Amino acid sequence: MKKFNNILIDYNKNITVPVDPVCGIEMDESLALVHEHKGKKYYFCCNGCRKIFIKKPKKYKNKS
Ligand SMILES: [Zn+2]
Repeated sequence: MKKFNNILIDYNKNITVPVDPVCGIEMDESLALVHEHKGKKYYFCCNGCRKIFIKKPKKYKNKS
């Protein structure tokens, strides 16, 4: 019998992990830099990514 003990995915937890729209890194919400753009919150791993987004938000916000 196979056991998949090593796979620990909790499907009951509905956590949305903030993703940096510039570099695509997933991060901890408490560590991320938050930038609000048109009422929507965006999370960034570093100030560099945030600056890139602020310069060209159109390039990154239409990722749906
Ligand atoms: Zn980044």
